[in-house]
Amino acid sequence: MAFEDLLSDPVIQKYLHELVGPKGMPVAAAPPDGEVTDEELAEELDLELNDVRRALFILYENDLASYRRLRDEDSGWLTYLWTFEYDKIPENLEEEMYRLLDALKQREEYERNHEFYLCEICSLRFEFGEAMDFGFECPECGSPLESMDNAMLVDSMDERIEELERELNVEELGA
Ligand SMILES: [Zn+2]
Repeated sequence: MAFEDLLSDPVIQKYLHELVGPKGMPVAAAPPDGEVTDEELAEELDLELNDVRRALFILYENDLASYRRLRDEDSGWLTYLWTFEYDKIPENLEEEMYRLLDALKQREEYERNHEFYLCEICSLRFEFGEAMDFGFECPECGSPLESMDNAMLVDSMDERIEELERELNVEELGA
């Protein structure tokens, strides 16, 4: 897939934005075809060199850019030549979605398998065992703890899980 096609995808734009932040976005959104130095990018995009370096390093940490170093024979100065590797974006995004799906499933199971009690004054929530230990009275303000129905929360989590599974094309195994 060409860089331009990738970058017109709002999901990928959001992913990059979350990685590099608003200041790094001009760097992330304008990947050159070949190698480029941080100084060249800073000049071309009219950005602070530090912001460019920060964005490049984040991309590097996420396997979306690589570099090689050249040493100037005379001055001994090091130049970093960067290459953007955005062909890995779809793969990274999918991993991210799987991580989110796992976390959501664990959370949903926890919500589904526990009973909760709420202090409506302090908006504090307690598991059944904790609430019992406190004699069903809020340890902060002494108000009675009310049984809390989290069915709506569980439902909305189920919906999000189904959505993610559809996007990832996951088959429900032995459900
Ligand atoms: Zn309270």
